Amino acid sequence: MGRYLWLLLLPLFLFGSTVKTFKWNNGESFLTFLEHKKLPLALYYRLDKEDQKLTEDIPFSATCQMLVSRKNIIEQILIPVNDELQLQIYLSKKKKYIMRVIPIVAEMYHEVLYTEVKTAPYDDILKATGSKNLAATFVKMFKGRVNFKKDIKPGNPIVIVYNQQYRLGKYFLMPEVSGAMIEVGGKRYSVYKHTDGRYYDAKGAQYEKFLFKLPIRNARMTSGFTKRRYHPVLHRYRAHVGVDFGARPGTQILSTGDGRVCFAGYSNGYGKTIKIRHSNGLTSLYAHQKGFKKGIHNGSKVKQGELIGYVGSTGLSSGPHLHFGMYDGSTPINPMSVMKKKTEGFTGKEYRRFVAIRTKLDKIFKKTMGTKPVKRKSIDFQNTYYVDKDTFKVKTF
Ligand SMILES: [Zn+2]
Repeated sequence: MGRYLWLLLLPLFLFGSTVKTFKWNNGESFLTFLEHKKLPLALYYRLDKEDQKLTEDIPFSATCQMLVSRKNIIEQILIPVNDELQLQIYLSKKKKYIMRVIPIVAEMYHEVLYTEVKTAPYDDILKATGSKNLAATFVKMFKGRVNFKKDIKPGNPIVIVYNQQYRLGKYFLMPEVSGAMIEVGGKRYSVYKHTDGRYYDAKGAQYEKFLFKLPIRNARMTSGFTKRRYHPVLHRYRAHVGVDFGARPGTQILSTGDGRVCFAGYSNGYGKTIKIRHSNGLTSLYAHQKGFKKGIHNGSKVKQGELIGYVGSTGLSSGPHLHFGMYDGSTPINPMSVMKKKTEGFTGKEYRRFVAIRTKLDKIFKKTMGTKPVKRKSIDFQNTYYVDKDTFKVKTF
């Protein structure tokens, strides 16, 4: 673990070097990036297949950091691949560039927000927390349930229970809301996150309207979604930001939902790939195809369940399968969390599990309504932190 320490301390002890931030260029391949920065292309070619694939998951406009010496020599570059992993390129003591995949260090805090409506929930949550993401998540959760324009009145209480990650004292990534409530016209509206990652009301009815279907009939999942996994044998960090379905070559691939094809072409890692943008802002991805259905091209409109291509093994693939991804903007999400479920409502064990979650959150709502805690403003201690070498935690001096 100690080997990551120096890199975490870099913002503090720059030894005359400067940190420059830059955005990942959309559409730029990793090789072009290396070329532009005059870095050895061998950095890419030396990677194994899995890590080469990882370079294709760098979200467009990702914020990257580069440490440059006074003599204008690149000493380090950090490129986030997702919210848990980053690529690190650094100049070793032997003046050789080395690249590896390392975890991003952040701290998770459990928080409860209490606020009252003054103007509109979005603005009030933003004002109380400074988090646009939290405000937007809240509004999204109640969309279609509460008319924020019409029914809301000043003084209506809001409670949000969530986890927020912080990195170096600042908000990092999307908050994970486990429950929220708002009182409107004397009526309480609550939303609860179940163990399946979806939001439900008090009766267990589902909130999210956009439900997708599996892209393969009789699908057999061979590999699940993970943003960070430590490979115990290879001693490496891996990510798999999609799910794999094993299937015979030529098996039909169906569009997971209505939408418009926004990419139909070849990419190094993913091979023949189709991306479809859906009306709710999500984009689905279908990789390693043998071929596309005739007539499917960039801009094609497709319906849910429509044939778009055939299972193959193109790109960096170890055998015929469909790699199926789902993205919210450029952030990969678990595709299975937005698939339509067969049954409506909870029964048996699942129902008891939901009731337990609901009861726990209702208690927090009640307590918070009673105590009305004032949210601490997050302190920006960017310039006054250090990172503990054993715990990796950010501490103030
Ligand atoms: Zn895959």
